[in-house]
Amino acid sequence: MNEILFNIAAINICTEAEGPYKRAAIWFQGCTIGCAGCCNPHFQSLEPEHIMTHDELIAVIHQSFIENNIEGVTYLGGEPTLQRNLVFLSESVHKMGLGVILFTGNTFSNLDPAFLKDVDMAIDGKYEQDLTDNRNLIGSSNQNIIFITDRYRSQTEWFLNPRGKRAEINISGNDIVFSGDVL
Ligand code: SF4
Repeated sequence: MNEILFNIAAINICTEAEGPYKRAAIWFQGCTIGCAGCCNPHFQSLEPEHIMTHDELIAVIHQSFIENNIEGVTYLGGEPTLQRNLVFLSESVHKMGLGVILFTGNTFSNLDPAFLKDVDMAIDGKYEQDLTDNRNLIGSSNQNIIFITDRYRSQTEWFLNPRGKRAEINISGNDIVFSGDVL
C-alpha cells in the first residue's frame, strides 16, 4: 500500500477554541472553493506545505491524548476533503476513542459520503461574507451544524454561544506543531 500522506498547514495539539472539550486541531493545506473574505487565504495554495504521514499525525494526536486528555480532533483548512486519505485518519482517530469534527466549505449534500465515515459532526458550506454569523466558529448563517453521530448532539450550545477566545496560529519555518491556548 502506498504511504498515506497529508498536506498540513498547521496543527494545534490542544485547544478549547476549535470545538467542545479539549481537542487537537488540524488545518489542512489547500482549498479551491474561493470564498470572498476567507479567513485563511494563506491555506488555499495547493502546493505541498508540510507533508506528514498518517502515522506521524496519529503520533501527534496520541501524544496529546496522553498529555492533555483531548476528547477529539477538529479538521479545518483549507478544505479538509481535498485530502483523499482523510478517511484513514478519521478511522484511526475513532479507534483511539476520540471524536472527529469536520469543517468543510462544501455543502453536506455534495460531499462524497466516503469522507464522512468516522466523522461525528460536520459544519458545512462556503463562507458568505454578507451573511456574517456570531455563532462560535461558524462564519456565516448559511453554514449548518450536522450531527452524523450522537457524540456531540448535547454540545449544540457550544456553537450557539457568542464567540469566545480563539487560538492563535503561529507558523515559523517548518515548525507547524504548536501548543494550544489551554496549556
Ligand atoms: S472553504 Fe474555507 S479555506 Fe476555502 S476559501 Fe472558503 S473560507 Fe477559505
